[in-house]
Amino acid sequence: MIIVMKHQATLEEISAVVSQVEARGYRAHLSHGTERTIIGVVGDDRPLENHQFELLPGVEKVVRILQPFKLASRDFHPENTIVRVRGVTIGGKQIVVIAGPCAVESRSQLLETAYAVKEAGASILRGGAYKPRTSPYSFQGLGEDGLELLAEAREATGLPIITEVMSPEAVPIVGKYTDIFQIGARNMQNYALLHAVGKTRTPVFLKRGMMNTVQEWLMSAEYVLSGGNQQVIVCERGIRTFETATRNTLDINAIPLLKQWTHLPVFADPSHGTGKWELVAPTAKACLAAGADGLIIEVHPHPEQALSDGVQSLKPERFKELMEDLRRLVPALDRTI
Ligand code: PEP
Ligand code: MN
Repeated sequence: MIIVMKHQATLEEISAVVSQVEARGYRAHLSHGTERTIIGVVGDDRPLENHQFELLPGVEKVVRILQPFKLASRDFHPENTIVRVRGVTIGGKQIVVIAGPCAVESRSQLLETAYAVKEAGASILRGGAYKPRTSPYSFQGLGEDGLELLAEAREATGLPIITEVMSPEAVPIVGKYTDIFQIGARNMQNYALLHAVGKTRTPVFLKRGMMNTVQEWLMSAEYVLSGGNQQVIVCERGIRTFETATRNTLDINAIPLLKQWTHLPVFADPSHGTGKWELVAPTAKACLAAGADGLIIEVHPHPEQALSDGVQSLKPERFKELMEDLRRLVPALDRTI
């Protein structure tokens, strides 16, 4: 439940409500908005059903939340969460584009891509050093060597970096290098991993599991938030449906739904969402029109030689054209880029 305080509620009245909540063994999450303070009751609040918080001084109303996620919910935290990474603001008016190769393959491949995406207007560099591959015989990533190359590319271009972490044990090593932890679709419900990144203060980019509902996905975000890490970004990357003509079905519905349900920044991944480079630019535009705060796009200088996801990777010149199109599109959406 959330307890909405009156506009003129005093600090004493707010603390009295917080004490009542805590005395019953719950955690109180305070959200100080411009208009009023909202106190979120964190925990399984069903036993509080009959408690009359409404009667306490300064309380305007008590709203019972039907959704099981709390800290991720917009009811708890009406204002958008803004995540700041090395001078890049995520979740504000500006659309943020993350771009780079699926996997870090070599120094020259990464640096060439990093310079190209920066030049075209991307704000963050992506690249996998540990790859979750369907086949154990496929390229698994360069590991720590890949992380070092990402750090070198950051140094060279000034772009912050994002890379995937696949296990709780790898959180310290990946955290030593990365600016943002990517949690991949296959690990969306790896609760030990969510718990581990929740204990850090590094932003977490949580991709949707390919067979998960929006509610399950926000419950995963809740794991990270309840661990104390408030910097979570969610990313729609397509789900499995009966359609086999595309790699996944990019669930564009989820974008405006998430903007209603959560205050967290919402991203979209048209590369994995479609699996075909020809479909990346049109769906990228659709996702922004639907309200996404940013995009993550795979770019490779030689997609035909890529060790993973070449068929869905844009060549640098195509990425540049897409960025030019987006610069024309976003003013109509009342955003900047
Ligand atoms: C990726 O970003 O390269 C990736 C593996 O994505 P996903 O976890 O969405 O499949
Ligand atoms: Mn990929």
